[in-house]
Amino acid sequence: MNFIVFGVVAPIAYFILRFLVKRLVMNFLQNLKRNTNIKNMTKCENCEMFFSEEDIKFVEGRNICNKPECKNNV
Ligand SMILES: [Zn+2]
Repeated sequence: MNFIVFGVVAPIAYFILRFLVKRLVMNFLQNLKRNTNIKNMTKCENCEMFFSEEDIKFVEGRNICNKPECKNNV
């Protein structure tokens, strides 16, 4: 009886485990991709938030974002 249960449960457990590991690896790779995207982000030196490079302007030696309160604060 135990032998039959193991024969059924083990392959299912193996399948689920493989599925979970695959998903984990996929998530890990997606996070890696996201992290490389962050490298293209620039920190606004006024509000300390990260923006993509096209939303940041180099003003008087500082990186300043597009937000009105930051632009007018330089
Ligand atoms: Zn800002």
